[in-house]
Amino acid sequence: MALERTFSILKPDATQRNVTGAINALIEAAGLKIVAQKRIQMSLGEARRFYAVHKERPFFGELVDFMVSAPVVVQVLEGENAIAKYREVMGATNPAQAADGTIRKQFALSVGENSVHGSDSADNAKLEIAQFFSENEIISG
Ligand code: ADP
Ligand code: MG
Repeated sequence: MALERTFSILKPDATQRNVTGAINALIEAAGLKIVAQKRIQMSLGEARRFYAVHKERPFFGELVDFMVSAPVVVQVLEGENAIAKYREVMGATNPAQAADGTIRKQFALSVGENSVHGSDSADNAKLEIAQFFSENEIISG
């Protein structure tokens, strides 16, 4: 195991229902440290770039519209095995399939409005963090 960083987004459905603190409590309870965090209004261009890997998928337009529909909270999480651990804490993409105790089981509204994003690999974590944070905004320790 290695100390890793992963990129997280608390999505518009979470900011609009005022559950970002409740979600952060689950993140922290899992042993992940929030080493950077800010609330932003994502632009269309940022959302399209962030989800470019899904641009051919039928839900791409809906996904981008959702991500710019309200503010989001972008975060860097740090911990042992942080990338896989956060995916586990998030739960399955579709909340109907998410395990008990996961963020999406507790908070997600649907497969689209599913409360959180987490990086799926070390390479993507690095790229996603770099899209929204400069290194001096990330304070470990
Ligand atoms: P994850 O966020 O679990 O990594 P994906 O990378 O497959 O999931 O998809 C990215 C995001 O696109 C999902 O979190 C969700 O918001 C949205 N999405 C995925 N599948 C669908 C779908 N079938 N319909 C609507 N939105 C979807
Ligand atoms: Mg994904």
